[in-house]
Amino acid sequence: MSVPVSQMWTVASYVVKQKLQRRKRYPLVLMLEPLFRCNLACAGCGKIQHPTEILKRHLSVAECLNAVDECGAPIVSIPGGEPLLHPEIDQIVEGMIERGKYVYLCTNAILLEKNLHRFKPSKQLSFSVHLDGPKEDHDAAVCREGIYDIAIQAIRTAVDQGFRVTTNTTVFSHGDPERLRGMFDTLMEIGVEGMMLSPGYQYEKAPDQEHFLSRDQTTNLFQRILGNAKRSWVFNQSPLFLEFLKGKWDLECTPWGNPTFNLFGWQKPCYLLEEGYADSFQELMDSVDWDSYGRASGNEKCQDCMVHCGYEPTAVDATFGTLSGFAMSAWRTVFGPGKDIIPEPIEASAPKASNLVSLEMNLSSPSGSKEEETHSVA
Ligand code: SF4
Ligand code: SF4
Repeated sequence: MSVPVSQMWTVASYVVKQKLQRRKRYPLVLMLEPLFRCNLACAGCGKIQHPTEILKRHLSVAECLNAVDECGAPIVSIPGGEPLLHPEIDQIVEGMIERGKYVYLCTNAILLEKNLHRFKPSKQLSFSVHLDGPKEDHDAAVCREGIYDIAIQAIRTAVDQGFRVTTNTTVFSHGDPERLRGMFDTLMEIGVEGMMLSPGYQYEKAPDQEHFLSRDQTTNLFQRILGNAKRSWVFNQSPLFLEFLKGKWDLECTPWGNPTFNLFGWQKPCYLLEEGYADSFQELMDSVDWDSYGRASGNEKCQDCMVHCGYEPTAVDATFGTLSGFAMSAWRTVFGPGKDIIPEPIEASAPKASNLVSLEMNLSSPSGSKEEETHSVA
C-alpha cells in the first residue's frame, strides 16, 4: 500500500494553485496540537514540560475545526501530547475528513487498539505511530519498557482492520544505522504504508540534551541510514527531503509551510520555537519577521535544524516549482535511491551522569507519574 492517488493529486493541485496565484508563502501541513498531555515522558520531548494546569486542558472540537478552516492547508497532522487522550478526538478527526482534509493522527500507540472503534478506516486518515528504533532503542527513547511491542501489536491490528498506518521516527546521535534499517524491514513486512524520518530538534526543555545532532552529524548519520536504501522501503516523505537529510540537496527552511496551532494560539514562528503567539492565522503570517529564521538568516537556533516541519514543505515546493527539483524527484521515484558511498561515522558524545539524573527526574514529572502511567496503559 502507498499514499493514495487522491492524496497525491490533492497536494499537487493545491501547490500548483498556490504557484499560479503567485502566493509566496502558503501552508501545506497544519500542525494541530489539541493538548500537551501525554502518557509517556520521552527523554527528547520538548512538548510535555508545561505546568499541570496547562497539561490538564485541551482544545475544543470547534477550536480545532476553526483552525483548520482558517489555515486552509490540505493536510492536517495532529501531534501532541498524545491525541488519543483527548475525549473528543474522534469528532475532531471526523470534522476534518468532512472538510476534505488528509489527517495524520500521531500517537505513541499505547491507547490505539482500544480506541480504533472510534474511527472508520478512510483514505483520508492515517495513524502515524511514533517508533524511534527497534525494541531496545525505542523503549530506551521513550523511557519505558514494553512500548515497542505494544506499538507493533497496535499497528498489526489497525492494518488488519483496514486503517492506513504510517510511522514517525526521530533520530538522535546514538541512532544505530543497521538497527534502524532492520526496523524498516520489519515495518514494511507488517503492512506500514510509509515511514517518516526526522532528526531531533534541540529543545532547550528536553531532559536529554546529549543526543541531539549537529548538521554534519545529521547528514553523516542519514547517509549511513539511507545509503543504498532498499527498493522495498517506502517513505512517506518527498525524495528531495531525504536527499537533503543525506546532505545531497540544499534546502532552506520555510517555517510557514507547517504552521502550528495549540492551546496558546498560532505559534511563532514554527513548530519547534516558541516566540510568542498570534490570535489568527493571518496575524501569524503578517506579524512574523520570516527573514529572521532559517539557516541563511544566521539565527543560532536554526543552524543545526534539519527537522521535517521546516524543510519538508520546502522540498514539496521545490518539487513542483523548479525544474531541477522535479527532475530529481522523478529520477528518485522511478529509478530508486541509487548506490551511495557510505561514510565513516562521526563519533557521538557519550551520555553524562548528570543527564541520567535528568532522565530519572523526567520519569517522576507530572506527565510521567506512575499513577498516570498505570491509568493510561490499562
Ligand atoms: S510520546 Fe513522547 S515525544 Fe510524543 S508527546 Fe509523548 S512524551 Fe512527547
Ligand atoms: S530552521 Fe528549524 S527552528 Fe528555525 S525556523 Fe525553521 S523549523 Fe524552526
